[in-house]
Amino acid sequence: MTQTSAALRARAEVDLAALRGNVRALRSRVGPGTALMGVVKSDAYGHGMVPVARAALEAGATWLGTATPQEALALRAAGITSRVMCWLWTPGDPWREGIEADLDMSVSGMWALREVVAAAREAHRPARIQLKADTGLGRNGCQPADWPALVAAALAAQDAGEVTVTGLWSHFACADEPGHPSIAAQLDVFHEMLAYAEKQGVEPEVRHIANSPATLTVAESHFDLVRTGIAMYGISPSPELGTPQDFGLRPVMTLSASVALVKQVPGGHGVSYGHHYLTDRETTLGLIPLGYADGIPRHASGRGPVLVGGAWRRVAGRVAMDQFVVDLSGDTVEPGTTAVLFGPGDHGEPTVEDWAEAADTIAYEIVTRIGARVPRVHLGERPEAGPAEDHQPG
Ligand SMILES: *Cc1c(COP(=O)(O)O)cnc(C)c1O
Repeated sequence: MTQTSAALRARAEVDLAALRGNVRALRSRVGPGTALMGVVKSDAYGHGMVPVARAALEAGATWLGTATPQEALALRAAGITSRVMCWLWTPGDPWREGIEADLDMSVSGMWALREVVAAAREAHRPARIQLKADTGLGRNGCQPADWPALVAAALAAQDAGEVTVTGLWSHFACADEPGHPSIAAQLDVFHEMLAYAEKQGVEPEVRHIANSPATLTVAESHFDLVRTGIAMYGISPSPELGTPQDFGLRPVMTLSASVALVKQVPGGHGVSYGHHYLTDRETTLGLIPLGYADGIPRHASGRGPVLVGGAWRRVAGRVAMDQFVVDLSGDTVEPGTTAVLFGPGDHGEPTVEDWAEAADTIAYEIVTRIGARVPRVHLGERPEAGPAEDHQPG
């Protein structure tokens, strides 16, 4: 491992062998006719987009998915040639660059179809578009009432050589709550909207609706492609669904810092801004050089767990912008000792789920918010993609 000087303070290690194992574990859950899209939006959920994208492709993902076109174009700029789809378009976004970069571009409404058609005329080549149906999420996507008009306009543009409709797709609202009635209801609506579009003449290469929780628990949602994000990073979509281990997944990120200072303080000493923590006796304090600017939730003040010197310690008092303090209960550790905030849990360290609970949020938010000041250290990178030498799924 190469330690830059920034990584001496703190680092997020990203275990790409674990990521490849997770991709294989997820592939083993879907049928042979179902492709896997590695969702790498938001800097691969904070794990570092390009190395993660490469590792996912090495392990058998054949599509990559991003939210914004800028993220998708960054994958192309890095030399990635797989299918890449992006779904969060804003008026004025770079449709023409997307066409020239062979992106699959989601279209949820008429404004987007108009912009992509105009760009295709300028580029003198058809755009790959995927029509998104709002089957009940109530977020992006085309409402069933507006679907006939969107399908008709897309088919007209296809006949004119301006677009190729490569996919029909949707997204779940509550797939992380097994048995939630909206899951079956959304599948019914999706089947109807697919049937309508296909009857009109759309011949989609891929139909897809499953995110990680649906990939793990709703087999009838897999269709031609599953879009997995969080599970690929070895994190369970929700603690109610199970642990990563229950699904044969291994957490990919380990966040740690080097203890910056250890000192003895008397009882009754206030700790950090606002003095929300008072030492109840003479004790030792350890300074951890990570703060809310690094993505450590201020909401976890007084609660977040850290493994230091062989024991779990809790954040003492408030998380500050760049640092927080733990009460070492009289133990002494050497400055420079590694403090592990979260990791796979193999060595007794907390997990990202423990932090999500401490901050009253979801693990997705913890990993995606790790700040740019924290170097990502990628382990297990395979410079030349060769045959799998990593372990099998499971
Ligand atoms: C983020 C996202 C996903 C991946 O969701 P996970 O729960 O992380 O698997 C899939 N599809 C869309 C449209 C998304 O925005």
